[in-house]
Amino acid sequence: MDRAGKSDVKVDVAIVGAGMGGLIAAIEAAGMGARVTVLDKLGPMIGKGIKAHGFGWFGNETCRAGGGGLDQVEPEMPVEELLALHRKQGWGRVDLELLRLFHERVPGDIRWLRDDLGLPFTSTGSLFGSILLQTVHVKGRGPGLMRFLYQAAEKRGIEIRFETKVLELLTGDLGEVIGLRERDAGGTRDIHAGAVVLAAGGFEGNNEMMLRYVGPQITYGAVISGCPTNTGDGHQMALEAGAQLANMSVCHINTTNQLLSEGPTRRLRNIWPGGIYVNKEGQRFIDEGTADSDTLSNAIAYQPGSVAALIFDERARLKDPEAYAAYPYKDKLIRSAATIEKLAETIEMPSAQLRRIVNEFNAAVKEGKAPSAGSGQAPGLPIPKTREAHRLETPPYYAYYPVVPGLNHTLGGVKINTAAQVIDRENRPIAGLYAAGSMVNWSFGKPFTVAGVTSYMGNYHIRSSKKGGALGGLSTALVFGRIAGERAAQAAIKKPKRRKS
Ligand SMILES: Cc1cc2nc3c(=O)[nH]c(=O)nc-3n(C[C@H](O)[C@H](O)[C@H](O)COP(=O)(O)OP(=O)(O)OC[C@H]3O[C@@H](n4cnc5c(N)ncnc54)[C@H](O)[C@@H]3O)c2cc1C
Repeated sequence: MDRAGKSDVKVDVAIVGAGMGGLIAAIEAAGMGARVTVLDKLGPMIGKGIKAHGFGWFGNETCRAGGGGLDQVEPEMPVEELLALHRKQGWGRVDLELLRLFHERVPGDIRWLRDDLGLPFTSTGSLFGSILLQTVHVKGRGPGLMRFLYQAAEKRGIEIRFETKVLELLTGDLGEVIGLRERDAGGTRDIHAGAVVLAAGGFEGNNEMMLRYVGPQITYGAVISGCPTNTGDGHQMALEAGAQLANMSVCHINTTNQLLSEGPTRRLRNIWPGGIYVNKEGQRFIDEGTADSDTLSNAIAYQPGSVAALIFDERARLKDPEAYAAYPYKDKLIRSAATIEKLAETIEMPSAQLRRIVNEFNAAVKEGKAPSAGSGQAPGLPIPKTREAHRLETPPYYAYYPVVPGLNHTLGGVKINTAAQVIDRENRPIAGLYAAGSMVNWSFGKPFTVAGVTSYMGNYHIRSSKKGGALGGLSTALVFGRIAGERAAQAAIKKPKRRKS
């Protein structure tokens, strides 16, 4: 082993990854009196790292903050009802114990961020204009959140070392985790720790793992809108320590574009369902009325060249003119024209084909009485549109092109229990090893089939006809980061119990 003159050190809790999950775990563990060190292979707050740490919305699906904001968080849906919905829609793949714990804790943990740590929230409000997704927003969004957490960690005496890559876990004779091996510009060394928390993010940046677990279309068809340096190192280290992985094929994908900015499903949420999506050959490929953003983005990955155009008209735009006006990338990404033929020319699509597909679509539309409420159908087409179908006949016409699928992060990962302990392949906790954040298996939802490929609806989302919901990655990193930090500190300070075999 190359030690380059570096001597080994001893801490109570060693944490892999300085994202939301790792920093929250660190702050919690330090609060319990543990000596904590956090290691991250990236430099602090650079490039995409900022973006990959999220936009800074915290959401959950049972709580709706009333007029009193965070102090009056009320369940929107009884937890039992929600769990039953997950049980039904998750096809038995949902960890209901973790989900229950998450829902019980999340309002209090968000208040802890505000009251104990002093994180400034700008507002409470609904996500993307939806009345169903109640969220709180962090001042400065993702970068603001991360800067705040670095400072909070430093104030508590937590050592954060950037540009330091964790290579492997150290294990004892009984398989318990006793530390890790890391490397920075000065060489390699071992850190002996009473407990290790893995919070190393997803594996979206690792082609080999993406091909193995997810498949070629998403690996090559989607651009990485998350963090390309999240390469599944934590998953690999956990596997070597005997961990169980679950739901590894599930990813969170959203529409994006060549700027890697927020695509139509994020920022034109009320407008895009009123249009149609066509691929490069001018063919529709999805029921835009039922697709959520993940479904749509998955489907685009399977189209020729993995690109699509969103075609809409003035009537659709007028469903949310404020969102359209506020969309910062429209001059670069959205073209308009007085006719469908001219619009086709602006996106280099055969104009006769686009005209034909729009005519065919228009002829099938049965307008509903209240289009703004989502009615209107276009049945009888090779791919019907079951909601929000209205004729594209009000000029000017618009083309958002190219829309491409953006891989935010993977969602499958290591199995943990309610104490955030990593579970081994015999279903026992691995002593000394905890995990939090997006490397933990946190995927729920109903499998759906698009273009012959079965995937999952909306990553950590479930939806019924009445309710929508989101378990944001930041909220789950918060809840399980706190638990991991607390339990790791307890184990480290009191000496963990060893596994029996
Ligand atoms: C564009 C985008 C927008 C998002 N917006 C939201 C939002 O608004 N609300 C929300 O709730 N969620 C959002 N998410 C999801 C959310 O950002 C993530 O779920 C959350 O940040 C995950 O935190 P984490 O700590 O698990 O991982 P990360 O923040 O990815 O941190 C993992 C860290 O581990 C480090 N690491 C990896 N391997 C090693 C190694 N071998 N050694 C040392 N360090 C290592 C990485 O460098 C990285 O810094 C968004 C995600 C993206 C990509």
